[in-house]
Amino acid sequence: MEASRFGSYLLVDLNKLKSNIEALREEYSQNKILFMVKADGYGHGLVEIVKFAFEKMDVKEFGVATLGEAMTLRKHLPTLAFEIFVFSDLQFQKKDLAEFYLENRLIPVISHTEDLKTILEDSQFANIPLCLKFNTGMNRLGFGLDQVDEVISQLKSHGRTNVFHLMSHFANASMPMDKNNRNIWQHERFDEVKQKLSSSGIKVESTSLANSGALEQGFCKEETHIRPGLMLYGPTSLAPQHLERSWWKGQVISQLKTTVISSFEVKKGDPLGYNSIPAPEEGVVAIIAMGYGDGISTRYKGATLYHKGVPGKICAKVCMDMTYILFPVGTKVERGEEFTIWDGDSDKFMQLSHETQTIPYELVIQLTTRVPRIYQLD
Ligand SMILES: *Cc1c(COP(=O)(O)O)cnc(C)c1O
Repeated sequence: MEASRFGSYLLVDLNKLKSNIEALREEYSQNKILFMVKADGYGHGLVEIVKFAFEKMDVKEFGVATLGEAMTLRKHLPTLAFEIFVFSDLQFQKKDLAEFYLENRLIPVISHTEDLKTILEDSQFANIPLCLKFNTGMNRLGFGLDQVDEVISQLKSHGRTNVFHLMSHFANASMPMDKNNRNIWQHERFDEVKQKLSSSGIKVESTSLANSGALEQGFCKEETHIRPGLMLYGPTSLAPQHLERSWWKGQVISQLKTTVISSFEVKKGDPLGYNSIPAPEEGVVAIIAMGYGDGISTRYKGATLYHKGVPGKICAKVCMDMTYILFPVGTKVERGEEFTIWDGDSDKFMQLSHETQTIPYELVIQLTTRVPRIYQLD
């Protein structure tokens, strides 16, 4: 579907993505980045983000959630030689879909015995790099800790002495890595799995464990790879009370802009919009050109947005195509003016996520295809 707004867009500043990648590389100079770009590059545009990160920043490995996302990348960037890991929705049990992995040089992140069996037993998959994910405590996907021996014996019985990439995933990385018992436990279990494999004569070529929360706390430098997602797009994934543990000063790479379609004065109690919700105060209402059809969810009600530094509050019911914002009496907010829903300010972005009862991951991802993504690069 084509984007279908003119005066509204998500401005993605690739210069900031560049700075974020550089800052991460400076701290993690020995580790390779497996950049997580699932869910349309966390809403910023899958193809553009990967193209930039590969061509300009030399990131060579990317992680998506679904086979379809991987195929989109291969379709739109057919000549670029990056690797794609498919993490969760593999569709590997369907033979015609499993063949796409061969045809498109995709790496399935194997976390289920059935898929492992297919890879090991069907000779056409003999050359697919073996990427295994273990469940060390997230309890979502992955081979169980009680399956380590079984996996090892399966590998051996098929003459496989090599694992290309071994991984696991933290459940609590937004909490202290060195204090939270679950984090400590998961870290130890992952080391155990690595140990078991290597002492059984299976060579593990690469490993990864850390997502943004762990990386923001400086953990997991001993693995060959890191798997950042959110942090490279700017926001933090640490809980606010743990922010002082973070060395990370990420820049929010997007700005969300729209237009004021109309503005008018209201008296306290004037009925506004659907369900005639009374204006909470006297003031100036701005109607902006974005609503829940664009991803400004009805949960935005009450959130603070700024116009040229003046704070206003989303009032009445968010509509499909428009939203009401109430500003103090006398605020200059006029039809045709540009309106910024978020700029690059990290604190305001986190505040908006807090006020809309979302997590920062959701704010950009929930924007719909009606909103064009526009890219900026000096
Ligand atoms: C999404 C994801 C990541 C990245 O997580 P962030 O919190 O965005 O850094 C890493 N590993 C796995 C398995 C994931 O699903």
